[in-house]
Amino acid sequence: MITIALSKGRILKQTLPLLEKVGISLLDDPFTSRKLIFATNHDDLQCVVIRATDVPTYVQFGAADLGIVGKDGLLEHGGEGLAELLDLKIAQCRLMTAVPAAAVGQLRHDKRIRVATKYVKSAQRYYQAQGIQAEIIKLYGAMELAPLVGLADEIVDLVETGSTLKANNLVAQDLVADISCRLIANAASMRVQHKMIAKLVDQLAEHI
Ligand code: AMP
Repeated sequence: MITIALSKGRILKQTLPLLEKVGISLLDDPFTSRKLIFATNHDDLQCVVIRATDVPTYVQFGAADLGIVGKDGLLEHGGEGLAELLDLKIAQCRLMTAVPAAAVGQLRHDKRIRVATKYVKSAQRYYQAQGIQAEIIKLYGAMELAPLVGLADEIVDLVETGSTLKANNLVAQDLVADISCRLIANAASMRVQHKMIAKLVDQLAEHI
């Protein structure tokens, strides 16, 4: 049995059609079902549907052989025990810094700034590389609120259309990383299940 860990939410909406294209369909609808494990139309293939941030962990420890997760989640996890097999080119967006409209153009190199983000490792790496002293504040959601209430000077968040930033009077500044969904595999599964994984990778690659 092969287990694929799928990221819940926005990514799942784009993942299911891709799996359908390679002939894999879940037997229950993960958007309405409360199940966590989903059988598929293949007896030897099942999916677990979990939070994106947990997908690399399930795959690292072999609880899932394969996973579909955003590059943002992979960067935070660090990639230990995982192989990144394919850029699926879905859920494409950008990890960016953003500041209140009133702060656009202000110099950041001459002071210590506070940055609110869910993406602590990526943010730390970015500000360090820029030579900017940043105190990173970890949040789990609604990062846009932080600069509006004085919790942070700026944020690092995913931007797709930019409408969330705009609605909160924030302006995207610098690119931290280009993000898209990746197919990842457990290192041991890659050896044991090589044939089946290679076939799936080939099929997916055809439909990207
Ligand atoms: P947008 O308003 O289209 O720029 O989308 C920004 C909001 O959607 C932010 O709250 C992001 O955290 C979230 N978001 C955008 N793209 C993605 C993605 N690929 N995966 C997960 N969340 C995303």
